Amino acid sequence: MATEIPTFKLVLVGDGGTGKTTFVKRHMTGEFEKKYIATLGVEVHPLEFHTNFGKIVFSVWDTAGQEKFGGLRDGYYIGGQCGIIMFDVTARITYKNVPNWHRDLERVCESIPIVLCGNKVDVRERKVKTGAVTFHRKKNLQYFELSAKSNYNFEKPFLWLARKLVGNPSLEFVAAPALAPPEVSVDANLMEQYNKELEAAAAAPLPDEDDADL
Ligand code: GDP
Ligand code: MG
Repeated sequence: MATEIPTFKLVLVGDGGTGKTTFVKRHMTGEFEKKYIATLGVEVHPLEFHTNFGKIVFSVWDTAGQEKFGGLRDGYYIGGQCGIIMFDVTARITYKNVPNWHRDLERVCESIPIVLCGNKVDVRERKVKTGAVTFHRKKNLQYFELSAKSNYNFEKPFLWLARKLVGNPSLEFVAAPALAPPEVSVDANLMEQYNKELEAAAAAPLPDEDDADL
């Protein structure tokens, strides 16, 4: 008998230009099966993952660019079960705006699992350094650094959210989804250095001042 695949609405937010659409389009079957909701101006991508507990689907909501003109309407957030807040490590303002996106998300969705993602780490001239990212620690979010264009860490946010949603930290992905071929590459040594910086930052005390992280 066919059982229903557990499906979770994932609300994707962050400033325009941070790479949200690029990120969600990497997943090939999700891109193929996406649906456009004309009344809201939203594309919904069903991203399927294979786990050791069976399949799981994230219905990822992506805007058609409305975020460039301010906040998003409540209809975008309603029913959201998990979230990704994206910023661009090459544009400081996009990190500065993260608290606003977080506030909007929590206002409607309350206490859902949320991942903060710093995208475009393939770019060497970063403006937001790894150690400067502290917002997630104040709000109990998870943080990952990504490069959507290179597929670097593509699965990390989904794996973390899947574990939270299923309530089982031993959940693993057992097969990789088909992803669009990388358009850029990341320097493995540099990524290793960023990971070390992330570990060091996690062990350091939080700065008191709100702006000390910018
Ligand atoms: P959105 O407005 O948040 O949906 O952002 P888009 O996905 O439209 O991307 C905005 C711009 O950033 C585009 O020119 C993308 O090609 C570029 N971009 C997205 N992800 C990456 C990345 O990982 N690395 C680099 N270097 N550029 C990216
Ligand atoms: Mg977009």
